[in-house]
Amino acid sequence: MPNANTDAPFLVAGGGIGGLVTAYALASKGLPVRVFEQAPEFKELGAGIQLGPNIFRAIERIGLKADMLEDAWVPPSLEMRDALTGEEITSIPLGEPFRRRFGQPYAVTHRADIHGVYLRACERHNLVSLETSRKVEDFSEEGNTVTVRLEGGEEARGRALIGCDGMWSRIRGKIIGDGAPRVSGHIAYRAVLKRTDVPDDLWRPGVVLWAGPKTHFVHYPLRRGALYNLVAVFHSDHYVEGWNSEGDPDELWKRFRGQRPEVLRLLERIETWRMWVLCDREPVKAWSKGRVTLLGDAAHPMLQYLAQGACMASEDAVWLAEKIAAAPDDIAGAFRAYEQQRYLRTGRVQIMARVYGEFYHASGVTAELRYQALHGRTAEQAYDGMEWLYGGL
Ligand SMILES: Cc1cc2nc3c(=O)[nH]c(=O)nc-3n(C[C@H](O)[C@H](O)[C@H](O)COP(=O)(O)OP(=O)(O)OC[C@H]3O[C@@H](n4cnc5c(N)ncnc54)[C@H](O)[C@@H]3O)c2cc1C
Repeated sequence: MPNANTDAPFLVAGGGIGGLVTAYALASKGLPVRVFEQAPEFKELGAGIQLGPNIFRAIERIGLKADMLEDAWVPPSLEMRDALTGEEITSIPLGEPFRRRFGQPYAVTHRADIHGVYLRACERHNLVSLETSRKVEDFSEEGNTVTVRLEGGEEARGRALIGCDGMWSRIRGKIIGDGAPRVSGHIAYRAVLKRTDVPDDLWRPGVVLWAGPKTHFVHYPLRRGALYNLVAVFHSDHYVEGWNSEGDPDELWKRFRGQRPEVLRLLERIETWRMWVLCDREPVKAWSKGRVTLLGDAAHPMLQYLAQGACMASEDAVWLAEKIAAAPDDIAGAFRAYEQQRYLRTGRVQIMARVYGEFYHASGVTAELRYQALHGRTAEQAYDGMEWLYGGL
């Protein structure tokens, strides 16, 4: 149906990383946007996030690459070590040859910093309205408008609705209806230390992953080196659905017992861990219905083992804005073109993240095979294996 309401705003449910980058990408195309965030303020939690070259390729198109790099840390390598023997399994250099190969850097940043870059970009843009304490409860589509009902009964009308409401998306519930996310049985404990709280002999400039049986442990610097991010992941059948609750240190010690002193000494530095129960979903081919679509974790939630959820949400936003700009009078068609562009790429990351999780947590013969596959590769061979992900958009 032709679109008669070109001045009506796009409605975005959720003001996390995905919602804010979407709002900015749409505004950059001259489209007005209202963002509804259920929380009383726009805020991200204290934890690190890795940024592959693909996110920089995406956000360069909306002019935010330099801002993103300002507070980030650019690690010299991605290193994997055996958590039992300490042996290096592989180390992938991220310097000049990596940049030449992918045309973009690899960086790590604080969640609050990536979120802050998108938030400030939205605040500067007069086409974005940022609204807190506004929970989207329901929506309906009538002709060429979508109406959302907010908690408390207020209604808002717009040209289309983009569900950026995360892993437990209500909007997905209504569009796809595939129930609750899949609980993986993997738990992540996360903490951020000040640089000064990390013993000098344990501090490393790169991203280091210690692979152990049914566990792995990752650390890297953040915020221009002022902070140090730690993530400990292990298998557990004990879970509370949700995230960001306090983690029980006894369970952590049980799972990491017997690992290298470098691992245990760093784990010892943490007083309070925040716990995430890791979930994902089966990939789907379509996540739009008429003038309503999904983006980021609402569309394709993934385990974090390829460190790509926020990167994929940012890629989604750039593509979504481009597809709408190419067909402003056919929003439903633009949404179909966007999901068609994205579903195989995001589905591949969803599936491969599970495979990488198995690889990180291997023991016995599988661990030997991991060593055989990864050890002794040249940098170019390692880059070849990353091409599908880091070379794309
Ligand atoms: C342990 C861990 C490590 C990770 N590491 C990385 C990494 O290194 N690199 C990377 O790229 N990604 C990583 N990710 C993934 C990344 O954090 C997510 O993919 C990303 O944050 C998803 O953003 P989103 O905006 O889609 O969803 P969310 O961040 O979940 O945001 C959803 C927002 O919507 C709001 N909301 C929800 N429901 C409603 C409603 N009904 N009405 C209004 N507002 C609502 C929420 O309050 C929230 O603000 C990691 C994830 C985890 C768990």
